[in-house]
Amino acid sequence: MRYRTPQKRIKDFKEVALGLTERQAVKEANRCLQCRKPKCVEGCPVEIDIPKFIAIVKEGDYLSGLKKIKESNNLPAICGRVCPQETQCEGKCILRKKSRPVSIGALERFVADYGVSLGPMESPKVNPPNGHKVAVIGSGPAGLTVASDLARLGYNTTVFEALHEPGGVLLYGIPEFRLPKKILQREIDYVRSLGVKIVVNWLIGRTQTAEELLEDGFEAIFIGVGAGSPKYMGILGENLNNVYFASEFLTRVNLMKAYDFPKYDTPVKKAQKVAVIGGGNVAMDSARTALRLGAEKVYVIYRRTEKEMPSRHEEVENAKEEGIEFHFLSDPRTVLGDERGWVRSVECERMRLGESDTSGRRTPEPTGERFCIEVDQVIVAIGQSANPILVNSIKGLNLWGNGYIVVDKEGRTNLERIFAGGDITTGAATVISAMGAGKRAARAIDNFIMRRRESLQQSPEPALSQNKPQ
Ligand code: FAD
Ligand code: SF4
Repeated sequence: MRYRTPQKRIKDFKEVALGLTERQAVKEANRCLQCRKPKCVEGCPVEIDIPKFIAIVKEGDYLSGLKKIKESNNLPAICGRVCPQETQCEGKCILRKKSRPVSIGALERFVADYGVSLGPMESPKVNPPNGHKVAVIGSGPAGLTVASDLARLGYNTTVFEALHEPGGVLLYGIPEFRLPKKILQREIDYVRSLGVKIVVNWLIGRTQTAEELLEDGFEAIFIGVGAGSPKYMGILGENLNNVYFASEFLTRVNLMKAYDFPKYDTPVKKAQKVAVIGGGNVAMDSARTALRLGAEKVYVIYRRTEKEMPSRHEEVENAKEEGIEFHFLSDPRTVLGDERGWVRSVECERMRLGESDTSGRRTPEPTGERFCIEVDQVIVAIGQSANPILVNSIKGLNLWGNGYIVVDKEGRTNLERIFAGGDITTGAATVISAMGAGKRAARAIDNFIMRRRESLQQSPEPALSQNKPQ
């Protein structure tokens, strides 16, 4: 994969990775062994026929390769850019044991970008309308996937989105330098071309309730509202001026274009020295965004070691190349400010690794040793949690943990006509796992509506009835 040089790329928000050339793509496709029992497919949450699409690329028929991927994945230009392939398809590739796995993600991106270069996409085949209406709440990868799959089957599908533009985290979270907005726009245009209606500025739970949607003739609802609320560190000084939560910081910059203030209305505080707390994709995106806003120094403070970082490996490497400094085995204890309440430093405690926890990662333990890092901005990126607005407005909906929806493998909740998937059911996860959940839920919704059509008597049913225990 070719990349822009760190010196150039930190000065703007343009995309960092440039993709494979045609020669590189064909060469890489030729490395694939075309395994009879391909392990890579087992690692793909949406089960793309990986060897088949690679075989087509080998023959130089990139458009057919793209069509093959699109049979299972409606958003390949996005997945080719942001999926953690090293733990999914590439993590399972048989060649990993001998040398390095086939660069499946880069090949996926290559064919998707080839499609983009050809101009507007040809209209896909969609079943004739079947007369049934489904509502999808939230336009992130889970919602867009359910909506596309159902529209293809002939359903009249409407997506309701609280923000003024669709895309979920793909729009307001992941920055332009990793996922250009024009790529996202094209994928959303594709979803619309299937006949999906997208209604924006529509907060379900406030503007309209889920029950009202059912009364309006929607036969089933899919909830894909993500987990966008911030998580707090719970330490002294967290409320000082210039402490941001990553979700707010990134939304200001990505969605509201704060980097171009005052041309755009939303400002963001630009700082000289920034501490980003956390070790996931959100932390990497926040750190690299702060750098592009003009910070001289950006520190990432993470309580475990690099090995345990949940972020995509490629993004950690990119961040290092760009000059971001990492403080591993460090846990913030206090954010210190000046007499006017502005951040001046972060006091951390040095950690060491103890036994593995339930997630398999070794638990950080305090050593008692403290140190301070001088900064004038702190961005907290230690995870997200469920937003209660919608889930609390649905009577009788079973929840787990801090407000996540309980679902079975197919995305069925305990309420008969309500399905859910993505981060609101799993907690913060990945784009492709949200899409995988969306695909399974689309099949379950189709089954449910088809069975209901057969069995529904003339007598009306209550809007929300309980599913039988499974
Ligand atoms: P979301 O993408 O969160 O979308 C939910 C949508 O629902 C939002 O648009 C929201 O506005 C809307 N909504 C919420 N409540 C309501 C309501 N009541 N009514 C109507 N609409 C509502 N994953 C990767 O695989 N690779 C990455 O590189 C990666 N980087 C990330 C970087 C950042 C900064 C963040 C925050 C996450 C990243 N992730 C990454 C995780 C990934 O983006 C999420 O797991 C995924 O987007 C979850 O999809 P979703 O459809 O469940 O929800
Ligand atoms: Fe090709 Fe690797 Fe998949 Fe085998 S496991 S088919 S080598 S991509």
